[in-house]
Amino acid sequence: MTAGRAAIAIAGGGVVGLSCAFALAARGHEVALFDPTPGRGTSWGNAGGITPGWVSPLANYSTLCAVPSMLRDPLSPLAIRPGYLPALLPWLLRFALSARRAEDMSKALAALTLTSMEDWRDFASEAGVDHLIRAQGLLYVYASRASRDGAEAAHAFRRRRGVTLEEFDAASLRRFAPMLSESYRHAVYAPGAGHFADPGALCDGLAAAFLAKGGRIERTKIVDVAPISDGIALVTETGLFHAKQFVVTLGAHSQTLATKLGARVPLDVERGYHAHLPSPGVELPAQMIDGEGKYAVTSMNTGLRLAGTVEFAGLDAAPDMRRAEMLIGNARALLPGLNANDATYWMGFRPSLPDGLPVLGRSPATPKAIFAFGHAHLGTTLAAITAKIVVALIEDREPGIDLRPYDPLRFRHWF
Ligand SMILES: Cc1cc2nc3c(=O)[nH]c(=O)nc-3n(C[C@H](O)[C@H](O)[C@H](O)COP(=O)(O)OP(=O)(O)OC[C@H]3O[C@@H](n4cnc5c(N)ncnc54)[C@H](O)[C@@H]3O)c2cc1C
Repeated sequence: MTAGRAAIAIAGGGVVGLSCAFALAARGHEVALFDPTPGRGTSWGNAGGITPGWVSPLANYSTLCAVPSMLRDPLSPLAIRPGYLPALLPWLLRFALSARRAEDMSKALAALTLTSMEDWRDFASEAGVDHLIRAQGLLYVYASRASRDGAEAAHAFRRRRGVTLEEFDAASLRRFAPMLSESYRHAVYAPGAGHFADPGALCDGLAAAFLAKGGRIERTKIVDVAPISDGIALVTETGLFHAKQFVVTLGAHSQTLATKLGARVPLDVERGYHAHLPSPGVELPAQMIDGEGKYAVTSMNTGLRLAGTVEFAGLDAAPDMRRAEMLIGNARALLPGLNANDATYWMGFRPSLPDGLPVLGRSPATPKAIFAFGHAHLGTTLAAITAKIVVALIEDREPGIDLRPYDPLRFRHWF
C-alpha cells in the first residue's frame, strides 16, 4: 500500500488542533489535519468563554474531603460515578497533592491565560472569525453573601495575578443586568474577558480558513503512530501516512498516542453538560458565572447556553442528561421568565491533568512530535496562544514562554 504524505500531520480538529493547523498553514507550511468529525467534539458545545482570569487552580484538599458527598449525589455540580472511583483515585490523589503548589500553578495558568483576549483578537482577525468575539467581560453573580465570600479565595488569586475586577453591590448589579432575579445581590465583574458567540461556528470558521490557506483535512481516525528515522509513521482507519512532523491535539482522546510517543500522562476527563435554549427571551450584557449553581450562562448567536458542572465517569459511560436538564432549573432562579422551550442537551469531555495545566511540548520519544492537549476548562481560551507555541516548536524557535510547567513528563515521579 502507498503511504500518504505530509510535511506536518495534526491529529485532532477541535478548537486547539484547528487553530494550530490554521496558524501553520498561514505561515506556508504544508499541513494535513486528521479527524473524522472536525469541530464536533468538546469544542463545539462549550461555553465559548475567553477567560484571562482563569488563574485560580481548582486543586485543593477540601475537594478530597467532599468525595463522599460527590459519590452520593449524582446531580451535585461536582459528581463522581461510584463505579469510576477506583480508576479515578490516582488522579484525585495527584489533584489533591497539587494543592501544595497552588501559587506556582496559578502563575503557570496566568502565563497562558492573561493575554488570551489580545492573542485571540489578532489571531481571530487573521482567520476571519473575529466577528464571533463578544468583548463584554465576565460577571460572577451570587445570591447569598456566603456564596460571594466562598469565592473570595479564587478572586484573590485573580487580583494577585493582576486581573482587573470590579465589585458590584445590589444596586450596580441591577443597573448592569436588570434581567437577573433580585435575589442575586452580589457580583464581581471582570471587564477584560469575552466569549465566542458560537463555538461551533468558530471551529467551522477556523477549518475554512485552514483550507483556504492550502491545508488538507483527512476525515479519518489515527489508530497508531511510530517514530521512524525521518519523521512519524501514522496508521489511520483508511491507510498509512508519513509525516515529517506530528502534532497531537486530540483533547480528551490524547492519552493513547501520547503513551506511544513516550509520555504516560495522567489524563482524565471532567465531563461537562450544556442546555441550549434557542428562544430564551433574554439577552445578557456579558457572559455570567452563576456562583450558586456553578455554571456559565452565555448569550450566543443561536440562543442562551447554560454550560458547566463536572462529572467524573470516564470516556465511555453514557451521559446523565439530568445534569443538563438541572441547569435549566438553576437558570430559572437566576433569570425569572426564562423561556426554555425546545431546549437541547449535550455532554462533552474536558481533557484534564491533575494540576489543571495543559501538556505543551515535544514528545519524549522524538523531537518530531509535539503535544498540545489537556486544556481542561480552557481549550477555547488558550487555542490562540497554543497555536503560537506549536508554530514556534515546529519552526524550532523559542516559543517566548517557559514551557517547563506544561512538560509532558512532569508527572513521571508520581506513578
Ligand atoms: C460544558 C463545558 C463548558 C466549557 N466551557 C469553556 C469555555 O467557556 N472556555 C474555554 O476555554 N473552554 C471551555 N471548555 C473546555 C473546552 O471545551 C476544551 O478544553 C476544548 O474543547 C478542548 O479542545 P480540543 O481541541 O483539545 O479537544 P476537542 O474539541 O475534544 O477535539 C478533539 C478532536 O479529536 C478528534 N479525535 C478523537 N480521536 C481521534 C483520533 N484517533 N484520530 C483523529 N481525530 C480524533 C475528535 O473527533 C475531536 O474533534 C468547556 C468544556 C465543557 C465540557
